[in-house]
Amino acid sequence: MHAGDLSASLVRLVILLGAVVAVPILHYWVGGRWRSYLALLCGLAFLGIAEGLHIVQCSLAGEFQVASIAWDSIYINVSGYTAVVLGMLFWIREFRETRKELERDNVNLRRVAAIDFLTELVNRRQAVRHLERERARARRSGESLGFIMIDLDHFKSINDTYGHQAGDVALKHTADILKTRARASDILIRYGGEEFLAVLPDTDLPGAVELANSLRERIQDNPLTYGDVEVQLRASLGVAVLPPDQDIGVKEMIGRADKALYAAKETGRNRVVVWEELPDTEDKPATALASAHAR
Ligand code: GH3
Ligand code: MG
Ligand code: MG
Repeated sequence: MHAGDLSASLVRLVILLGAVVAVPILHYWVGGRWRSYLALLCGLAFLGIAEGLHIVQCSLAGEFQVASIAWDSIYINVSGYTAVVLGMLFWIREFRETRKELERDNVNLRRVAAIDFLTELVNRRQAVRHLERERARARRSGESLGFIMIDLDHFKSINDTYGHQAGDVALKHTADILKTRARASDILIRYGGEEFLAVLPDTDLPGAVELANSLRERIQDNPLTYGDVEVQLRASLGVAVLPPDQDIGVKEMIGRADKALYAAKETGRNRVVVWEELPDTEDKPATALASAHAR
């Protein structure tokens, strides 16, 4: 065999092996986001080398070697394009994986944006969307919608006595109590620091009051065990119910529950006050109580 033929065969072998082996090796050995781009680049590089060699061979060859150069050309191009196709396959696979990862991240981000991370209740920002939807549904189906505003009593002193971390655990503990008592359709919101709002679809005034009383009792009867101390918790609750025949907005309803809560604080805490039972004032028409009880 001619020395030139041997070296040409070796070059072909290297190009073919390089194309088929180097691209996957590069892809699996190089970590990180850019590995599929590298594999594709590597494939393109092999194609470039193959084409370059072919051009050099063509320019060096005389007229009599045209047939052998044509074979070289096929050989070289097949290996070069194999490398590119492999590189592209890896790139497409990586692209798909990246897209799936992004979709997963998006779902997680939406969850994080909607859920309060400490209590895992709906956060206040997301609450507006939920409440408007519930309000519309209650209107369509002719059901009443209950609102209970819950605020822990003297919570600042829990932080001051046992530390902020104990305060955080107490908030989670309270949220867990709310969760165990609520129905699946109820919406539990961390409305503020130590304030929670429960919105109760298809719940009339007696039902909302019963739930509020039961929540107050459960919070009182289930002190938090923090290390070796028992932290006694108490809560005040304000209740308001939107009857199906009244066209009142969500904001106004939250305002009513808040006013009832304020009255509970004013009259001694650790109690439930119902907005419909508050004495009539300028912003509380006398018809409200009658209307609420008429159903
Ligand atoms: P009241 O009975 O009138 O409701 O008194 P309070 O002490 O519960 O209410 P106040 O508004 O005076 O204090 C609320 C406290 O809640 C103050 C604040 O530091 C605490 N707080 C708010 N958010 C958090 C939280 O995420 N973690 C902890 N540990 N404390 C919080
Ligand atoms: Mg409080
Ligand atoms: Mg408060």
